[in-house]
Amino acid sequence: MRILKSAILLFSLLLFFNAGSQTDENVIKEIYKQSLTNGKSYDWLNYLSNQIGGRLSGSLNAEKAVAYTKEELDKLGLDKVWLQPVMVPKWVRGFKEYAFIESEKGKTTTVNICALGGSVATPALGLKAHVVEVKNFEELETLGKENVEGKIVFFNRPMQADLISTFQAYGGCVNQRYKGAVEASKYGAVGVIVRSMNLRLDDLPHTGSMTYDDLPVSKRIPSAAISTNDADLLSTMLKLNKSTKFYFKQNCKQLKDVLSYNVIGQITGSEFPNEYMIVGGHLDSWDLGDGSHDDGAGVVQSMDVLRLLKETGIKPKRSIRVVLFMNEENGLRGGKKYAEVAKQKGENHVFALESDAGGFTSRGFSFDCSDASFNQVLSWQPLFKPYLIHYFEKGGSGADVGPLKTNTNVLAGLRPDSQRYFDHHHASSDTFDAVNKRELELGAATMTALVYLFDKYGVPVTKKSQLKK
Ligand SMILES: [Zn+2]
Repeated sequence: MRILKSAILLFSLLLFFNAGSQTDENVIKEIYKQSLTNGKSYDWLNYLSNQIGGRLSGSLNAEKAVAYTKEELDKLGLDKVWLQPVMVPKWVRGFKEYAFIESEKGKTTTVNICALGGSVATPALGLKAHVVEVKNFEELETLGKENVEGKIVFFNRPMQADLISTFQAYGGCVNQRYKGAVEASKYGAVGVIVRSMNLRLDDLPHTGSMTYDDLPVSKRIPSAAISTNDADLLSTMLKLNKSTKFYFKQNCKQLKDVLSYNVIGQITGSEFPNEYMIVGGHLDSWDLGDGSHDDGAGVVQSMDVLRLLKETGIKPKRSIRVVLFMNEENGLRGGKKYAEVAKQKGENHVFALESDAGGFTSRGFSFDCSDASFNQVLSWQPLFKPYLIHYFEKGGSGADVGPLKTNTNVLAGLRPDSQRYFDHHHASSDTFDAVNKRELELGAATMTALVYLFDKYGVPVTKKSQLKK
């Protein structure tokens, strides 16, 4: 009976794809159907999140995730699956951070903080100092050394709530986190506390990468994020009493670089095997949650793109790769390594799509490409209409695929609904239960549909004269 069933299924699939007679509408319908009824992304994410957990670069969990995803890709019957070695930074958080606000001697209120990724530790007994609150670097400069030296700088610029794109709101704030320590140390600050990049008022601190640029080790000051509720509390207490002090203790550490891997799987193209199209997400994550939205979702969706192509019987003309990048969060080493090796080998990457904006309902894509390619995309818009996919805009793709940019290729990023993303981003609330199965599967199908179309129709060749030398 089972054999008969399989034979019928095979026969109907053969009929379905007979001589490419299927319309794009029907192929895309089948892709969505497969993802929503027979998808694998949610099961993979469950394992990645609940059996492995947070996957900070260089950690044991990151290595487990490399092994697990390679093993799962091996099961898909792709033409090739391999690991690409890459050296990654290893930063460890150490014990749980501790902090309080001291409004007067002996009167303290405990608050929620976490060290920023890449930060140095505080002195072993912690760091206590007066606080100076600023909204931006200009305000810091105006205050100058006389008002900042020996103090903790508190960067408290909230994400702008009236922006519909929360990524834009994030972009307007994130320099406080990334560059705050460099700027504050210019004026002799002893530490940095930054308001979490979160639109919601809650008690969760959100970590994320920061830099010291080329500051000598002796000039590096410890930096931490504070929850939005506690940022408001600290701000209020400073207004009531300017001599309020802040105490924090963290023992995070930057260790030596370690060997890790990008995980890659490939379906070799039937007509143009030397033209590569990639889909990917990043396998590493921050350590406070289990990295389900950032970027477990993008990882499993990308894996499912190749599986869905196979399941729906699509035989790509071009070589399609899934690339699971290591170390997007605190170094982008995986993305850089992948592009470097591709360049060395002279591989022609005509298309690259990244999913790294959360596992929420997909709305469309952003593109980094020529006008000719973008116009081609716009002509496909009606095909996506039944799936409520309407957002097709130029501007940005993904951090990991960025280094692959050429004058002629197409880089793209999946754009899901972003309203809840920053509730979870880099916080302990980035967990599996925050991902909806259908939303995740819709994203995988949406990505597969775009890959199918670009494979079928190719990337328009830009006239040689338009290319920059
Ligand atoms: Zn990410």
